[in-house]
Amino acid sequence: MKTLLKGGRVVSGRGWIEADILLEDDKISKVEADISDSDARIVDVTGRFVFPGFIDAHTHFDLAVAGTVTADDFETGTRAAVSGGTTTIVDFATQYRGETLKEALDNWHRKADQKSSCNYGFHLAISEFSESISSELEEIIRDGVTSFKLYMIYDDNMLDDGSIYKVLKRLTELGGIAGVHCENSDLVKAMVQEQKEMGNLTTSAHPASRPPLVEAEAIDRLLKIAALADSPIIVVHLSTKAGLKEVQSARKQGQEVYLETCPQYLLLDDSVYDLPDFEGGKYIIAPPLRKKEDQEALWEALADDSIQTLSTDHCSFTQKQKSAGKEDFTKIPGGMAGVETRPVLMYTYGVEAGRITMEQMCRLLSENPAKLYGMYPQKGVIAPGSDADLVVWNPDTEWVLSAENQTANVDYQAYEGYPVKGIAEQVYVNGQLAAENGKIVKEHLGQYVKREPYTKLF
Ligand code: MN
Repeated sequence: MKTLLKGGRVVSGRGWIEADILLEDDKISKVEADISDSDARIVDVTGRFVFPGFIDAHTHFDLAVAGTVTADDFETGTRAAVSGGTTTIVDFATQYRGETLKEALDNWHRKADQKSSCNYGFHLAISEFSESISSELEEIIRDGVTSFKLYMIYDDNMLDDGSIYKVLKRLTELGGIAGVHCENSDLVKAMVQEQKEMGNLTTSAHPASRPPLVEAEAIDRLLKIAALADSPIIVVHLSTKAGLKEVQSARKQGQEVYLETCPQYLLLDDSVYDLPDFEGGKYIIAPPLRKKEDQEALWEALADDSIQTLSTDHCSFTQKQKSAGKEDFTKIPGGMAGVETRPVLMYTYGVEAGRITMEQMCRLLSENPAKLYGMYPQKGVIAPGSDADLVVWNPDTEWVLSAENQTANVDYQAYEGYPVKGIAEQVYVNGQLAAENGKIVKEHLGQYVKREPYTKLF
């Protein structure tokens, strides 16, 4: 099967060129001017930008949280991903204590296999480290799981500092890399206690119990642990200016630190937690939404390439699920949807607004995650031999985000009423048309992605 995309502007991490793209089965076979091929189905994409398929390296589908399970599983979550232009996700397979790493991966394959509409890989969240886990890592990495997640908070998942040090050393020996959730667990517990003692059980207690220094302290400590282990490190979902400063000073010392942030930390702020009628419950996530000055610092860090990847932390719950914490903010399941809206939000409020360039968007949403997570140049670039995962982006379509027009399995839209510009007009997954203008046309095209060790970004 051949498809020929004619007349598009082919985007890479360095800019865009006008070229035709020939897809043969599940690969890109040619990228050049004026291709003709009488066997190919011809698609006119004149005036459209063609991006390498977007990669969301931070999703949680079909995950048990706070006595419930995320509203999106791999069926609905990957449909939402594809409808917005994301052709690959990397979800978090979690090792529950007492399990081998293999058992954790098997669990996540059972959740995802045969159900996914986009390609998918797994980071492995390590919740317990021992001699046997250490030796098991070798085979896990050889089998194509090359990135890991460590938590500095959450009693069921967190590792102590010594274990983080040991894991990082071992990963570095084997060519693995870890992304870390940075918040200080003890401080959050103490400050939650304070809020409760003051009788504040509403959503406004959420940011009050997790102030910016809770993140910055954990980032600072993590960076020192990583320096001692002589390991590269990824800070996931950076939310604060204070945390950014810690990373910038470590980089000045020569440390290899990568940063991820998410659209919600750029576009929403903590004033939503004070809204009446439990509106704030919709936005309970961790780390919490921050202040305008944090948003500004993060936008600047995107513009000057201090941040490498932009993911979503998609972890969705319905309003009914959220209402479990109406009387006590600590019982609200934490997380929100995002996998579907990331490309259009970044295009509208990043590229169109002049805060980042088209090529930066390409790097942040596709090229850099492909490199950091061992999928480049199979993914993350439009080049002969690469996978035929593509997004034909119409830059002129204007529309409005709403719960009504979303694909994700949730009953609210955190960006309700936001005007946006640009749309994923056609989305190709492994060479086949999977979505058009936000609607799925062919599901279950996703394949599991075995990954190589990470590639250094700088
Ligand atoms: Mn997460």
